[in-house]
Amino acid sequence: MPKKHRFLPHLQPEQIARIQDEGLRWTVAHAAKGSPYYRKKFKEAGVDPAGIRGLDDLRALPFTTAQDLQEGYPLPLLSVPEEEVVRIHASSGTTGKRKVLAYTQNDIETWKEMFARCYELAGLTPRDRVQICVGYGLWTAGSGFQLGCEHFGAMAVPVGPGMLDIQLQMLVDMRTTCLCSTASMALLMGEEVERHGLRDKLALKRCIFGSEAHTPKMRRQFERALGLEASFDISGMTELYGPGAGLECEARNGIHYWADLYIVEILDPATLEPVEPGKVGEMVVTSLRKEAAPLVRYRTRDLTRLLPGACSCGLCLPRHDRIQGRSDDMFIFRGVNVYPGQIAAVLEKFREFSSEYQICLRRKEGLDHMKVRLERLPGAEGDPDALAKAVSDEIRRQILVRGEVEVLVPGALPRSFSKTKRVVDDRDKE
Ligand code: ZN
Repeated sequence: MPKKHRFLPHLQPEQIARIQDEGLRWTVAHAAKGSPYYRKKFKEAGVDPAGIRGLDDLRALPFTTAQDLQEGYPLPLLSVPEEEVVRIHASSGTTGKRKVLAYTQNDIETWKEMFARCYELAGLTPRDRVQICVGYGLWTAGSGFQLGCEHFGAMAVPVGPGMLDIQLQMLVDMRTTCLCSTASMALLMGEEVERHGLRDKLALKRCIFGSEAHTPKMRRQFERALGLEASFDISGMTELYGPGAGLECEARNGIHYWADLYIVEILDPATLEPVEPGKVGEMVVTSLRKEAAPLVRYRTRDLTRLLPGACSCGLCLPRHDRIQGRSDDMFIFRGVNVYPGQIAAVLEKFREFSSEYQICLRRKEGLDHMKVRLERLPGAEGDPDALAKAVSDEIRRQILVRGEVEVLVPGALPRSFSKTKRVVDDRDKE
């Protein structure tokens, strides 16, 4: 018997397909009616909105991109009269203008429901105390975590990001049981807790973390330092309400996503054709209920893969893998699409190396060459040449490309506090 849930729906694949058919019809009609921008896009693509009957017609629809959001600044894709908008949020545009997204009251209600599902899937109860250590204000994170927490019925402790001394004080005094933060913040808090010898004074059991790529190594480190029972990777983006679009379950085998609220397609970022099931590609999402700023085939640039089959946790909602990077970071090596995250995944298997790596690409006599540079961990044993060969063989086996591996001393590779540059591509310089 499946567990009884208050917020998580139990939907069979046929039910999900029906909801998606209906939601897609509604979304396309709604966007065409309310948004001159979408109307124009559909017309240019030769799409008659009334002709969209369901999922089988999805691939006829044009893509929406980050550029569409910038062109419609400050209220892109707006599909309702402005008086129905009750709130906006914005994300930092990595290039150019911010992405501003509008919400109707119904959108806020949907988001709240999505988030309550996350807390439920993470095993929280109304007796939990949830310390929210992410950004408030224009960012979606803080208000999303709080809205969902209150709707779920747990106690929100809204500290916001940074302010380590207040964080520690609240962790101890409020007996916080669940931490919500980025993986880096959880790592930092773990270090502070250890430094101040506070482990025994904490009531922490769980952590919900997200918004940036993390590695299993980082995760093990903060789980240990904070004395956690479990941690959960949360997905989401401002374009799709905010964080809370899905959560990992206790099986730790992918992120369950709310397929009754949005459709996920996984496409080859170069050809925009669907990849084989289980293969990595770009996640493209279509919202099913979003009113103020609906998304039709929005290219997220996030790379992941769908995980076929049922999950051992018993929840009947589909799963995708954790986000493995951005399609912008993909490079083509001897005709094969390679993502830096695939190299990182190979490295996870080797305990002798740190999680840092660098991929160097060069062209010699018209042929591409790849060198993967790694760092040994201090005290790691084994012959460097044999280790290099083992990694190279594993890369060949898993990614089907041949690359040279160079083993460096600990700390030799460049580090960055935010986003480390993994690929150095000198192929067009020679
Ligand atoms: Zn599961």
